[in-house]
Amino acid sequence: MTARILVVDDIPANVKLLEARLMAEYFDVLTASNGRDALDICDRTQVDVILLDIMMPDMDGFEVCERLKSNPRTADIPVVMVTALDQPSDRVRGLKAGADDFLTKPVNDLQLISRVKSLVRLKTLTDELRIRHYSTRQAGIDDMLRLQDGRLEEQAQVLLVDSRGASQERIIKALKPIAEVSAMSDPQAAVFEAAENGFDLVIVNCNLDDYDPLRLCSQIRSLERTRFIPILLITEQGDEQMIIRALDLGVNDYIVRPLDPNELVARALTQVRRKRYNDRLRHSVRQTIELAVTDGLTGLHNRRYLDTHLRTLFARAKVRGRPLTICITDIDRFKQVNDVYGHDAGDEVLKEFAGRIRSTVRGADLACRFGGEEFVVVMPDTPAEVAATVAERLRGMIEARPFQLRSGETPLMLTASMGIATLVPGVDTPEQLLKQADRALYEAKNSGRNRVVAAAA
Ligand code: GH3
Ligand code: MG
Ligand code: MG
Repeated sequence: MTARILVVDDIPANVKLLEARLMAEYFDVLTASNGRDALDICDRTQVDVILLDIMMPDMDGFEVCERLKSNPRTADIPVVMVTALDQPSDRVRGLKAGADDFLTKPVNDLQLISRVKSLVRLKTLTDELRIRHYSTRQAGIDDMLRLQDGRLEEQAQVLLVDSRGASQERIIKALKPIAEVSAMSDPQAAVFEAAENGFDLVIVNCNLDDYDPLRLCSQIRSLERTRFIPILLITEQGDEQMIIRALDLGVNDYIVRPLDPNELVARALTQVRRKRYNDRLRHSVRQTIELAVTDGLTGLHNRRYLDTHLRTLFARAKVRGRPLTICITDIDRFKQVNDVYGHDAGDEVLKEFAGRIRSTVRGADLACRFGGEEFVVVMPDTPAEVAATVAERLRGMIEARPFQLRSGETPLMLTASMGIATLVPGVDTPEQLLKQADRALYEAKNSGRNRVVAAAA
């Protein structure tokens, strides 16, 4: 794992020490001896993680952190506060300033490297999501960052897996200000619980009876429904081997007993905050993808989606020797609707038409707006005769039910023509199938419209 780490400390010896340790792990290290230089570097270059001293002349670490977090360009660089004072109040202050993690001087090697690595991993994920987000849609990310603060006010939902009642109570009490905690002592039941309910964080205490806590962590990491839930592990002092293995498994953070309630709150909040931020990004990326394959007017899939998906359905039908039929439908004399009632009225008709298609086809069918007033329905596992009855039903429904416009009093009587074509030996590509259906549609138009014509097999 290579990443660029910025070390900020006003004492040169401290900088040297951290720099040497990080470089031994092949990190790319930049250094700064004061807050201003640090901000400057972050503004100019790509930095993946910042190790930030708190006590510095002029601008202290809290202020540097606040400034970084309030600038959208630098807001999601993880900040680790390095403090000489093991003061709970410092941690709370750091947290308020937006710090992602804490290290106490003298810095423990394992803690330093494992925390930096885990933050780099998170940063990589976030960066990747951001790139995808930006490449498809330019705006919105700053709003998201702002919204994220609002969501932080909400209580976090935490699942605690812990075998001891007394320990459960202590943790529930510590997290009370920020989280609603569901405590469970049975690890297997906990996995089901995690998969069923949308938790923001799972805390695993290593005190489990007859159960390997790392097995539990790895199950949570590998299940589709739980793999994005952060895991915080509570370990015993001196359990360094376990911590290394846990972090390798993808456990996000750990905390060593005896538990400091403030540290627990700080680490839990950091994980929850990251999770919510990444959820938001992932959701937005998904939305963007959906937009790219959806027709804006009707909400049906668009032609781009049809092109890729028909290819898949076509290949699958061929391999399995299953029938596949497509239907192209085109509204008759639609131009007149626009000419007489205006373009907006035309749009209304298209929406209603799409709605009728949607209500006619099965879930497995693929309905798309092909362009203009033409629509395509792909029907997997459907022979020509069955598809013909589906098309006939749709045709009848268009003819029988007038289209009511919002503006006009008189409902419009409309009809549509349809061409269907089925996958038979000799048809080798989706394009050929589409062409056959198109020819059948042309025939339906030529022979008087308002009818279904099947391509000759
Ligand atoms: P035919 O029965 O031969 O299909 O006649 P038609 O008038 O339906 O066919 P033609 O292809 O001549 O006209 C299609 C019209 O559809 C022309 C175009 O302005 C209109 N159209 C295409 N896309 C849209 C759209 O998104 N909204 C609206 N309102 N009209 C559209
Ligand atoms: Mg038409
Ligand atoms: Mg047309």
